Amino acid sequence: MTLNFGVVGAGGIGKTHIERLMQRVSGATVTAVADINVEGTKSYLQEKNWAIKVYETDTELINDPEVDAIVVSSWGPAHAGTILQAIEAGKYIFSEKPLATTAEDCQRIVDAEMKHGKRLVQVGFMRRFDEGYVQLKEAVDSGLIGEPLLVNAQHFNPTVPDSYTTDMAITDTVIHEIDVLHWLVNDDYESVEVSFPRQTRNKFGHLADPQIVRFETKNKIALEVQVFVNTQYGYDIQCQVVGENGVLDLPEFSTVRLRKDFKVSTGISEGWNRFTRAYDTEFQAFVDTIQEKGQPAFPSAWDGYVAAVTADACVKAQTSKQRELIVMPEKPAFYQE
Ligand code: NAD
Repeated sequence: MTLNFGVVGAGGIGKTHIERLMQRVSGATVTAVADINVEGTKSYLQEKNWAIKVYETDTELINDPEVDAIVVSSWGPAHAGTILQAIEAGKYIFSEKPLATTAEDCQRIVDAEMKHGKRLVQVGFMRRFDEGYVQLKEAVDSGLIGEPLLVNAQHFNPTVPDSYTTDMAITDTVIHEIDVLHWLVNDDYESVEVSFPRQTRNKFGHLADPQIVRFETKNKIALEVQVFVNTQYGYDIQCQVVGENGVLDLPEFSTVRLRKDFKVSTGISEGWNRFTRAYDTEFQAFVDTIQEKGQPAFPSAWDGYVAAVTADACVKAQTSKQRELIVMPEKPAFYQE
C-alpha cells in the first residue's frame, strides 16, 4: 500500500523532502502541500510538473482524507500547532527538528500521543540513519573498545547569516549532537557546561563563536562538542569515541579521491547535503515501519522532548557559565524501543 503524504512547509528542506518522497522513497507519494506562500508553492510544483493539491493552511491539509501522513517542515514555532492537530486526527507525523520550540510544547505532544494510545510521531534527527553513525554505534554496542569513557565531537559550518544568534549554536546546530550522542553511548545526560574559548575574527559581533559544550552522562561519560559555525572551509562533522580498549572515529564523508596538480585531495561538504542519504533512509524507515508495525520508526516524540529539555539546559549554561543539571522524568514504557 502506498502512503500518501501531505507536506506542511515547502521551503528549503520541505522541497527536498517532497522530491525524495516523489522520486526515491518506495511505497510513498505526495498528494498535498500546505504553505503560507501559496503562489510560490504552486509555481514550484508546476515547474516540477507534479499535480499535487496546494492548501494555504495545515488544517485543510490534515483534514484531507487523501492524506495519511504529514511531514512538518515549516518554521519551528509553527510545528507544535500542526502536530497537535495531526495527532487529534490520528495521522502519522514526520516532524523536522525541532519537534517544538519549547519543552512545554514537546510535553504537550508527548501527552497527546500517549492519550491517543499508539505512536504516530517520528522526529527528523537523521544522523541516527547516517551510515557512518550506524557503523560507529554498532562498533560501540559490540564492545570492541570496552565501555565508552569520552566522546569528542565537532560540528563545524562554513558560515552563518547575520540572523544567527549565540543560542542558535545550541538550538539549531548542537541539537543534532544532543540527539545522536546519548543514543550512541546508550546513556542519559546529567549535566552540561558551556565555555567560550578564543573567538574567531570571521564572525558578526553579536555572535559567540566557537563554543565548547561539555556534557556529563549519568554513567559519567564526558562528551565534548566543539561548535564553530564560521570555519570558512566547509561543513565538517567529526565524532570520536574513546573507550577502555581503543578509539573509534566516525568515517569521513566520502567523495572521490582526486590526484591532480601534484596533489591528492578529497572533498568536504558545503552543508546539510552531507546527510542526503540519511534523509532518504529516515523516510524509508518511517514508511516501512508504519507498513510493518502500524507505528513509525524512532527517534520518537520522547526523543524530541529530551532534546528540548537538554537544549534549554545548554542555553541556560551559556549565560550562567556554570554546570547546569539536565533533569528529566523517567522515560514512559510507551516510548521504549
Ligand atoms: P525555510 O524557511 O526555508 O522554509 C519554511 C517554509 O515553511 C517556508 O516555505 C514558509 O513559507 C513555510 N511556513 C512557515 N510557517 C508556516 C505555516 N504555519 N504553515 C505552512 N507553511 C509555513 O526553512 P527550512 O530551512 O526549510 O527549515 C524548515 C524546518 O526544517 C525547520 O524546523 C528547520 O529546523 C528544519 N531543518 C532541519 C534540517 C535537518 O538537518 N534535519 C535541516 C534544515 C532545516
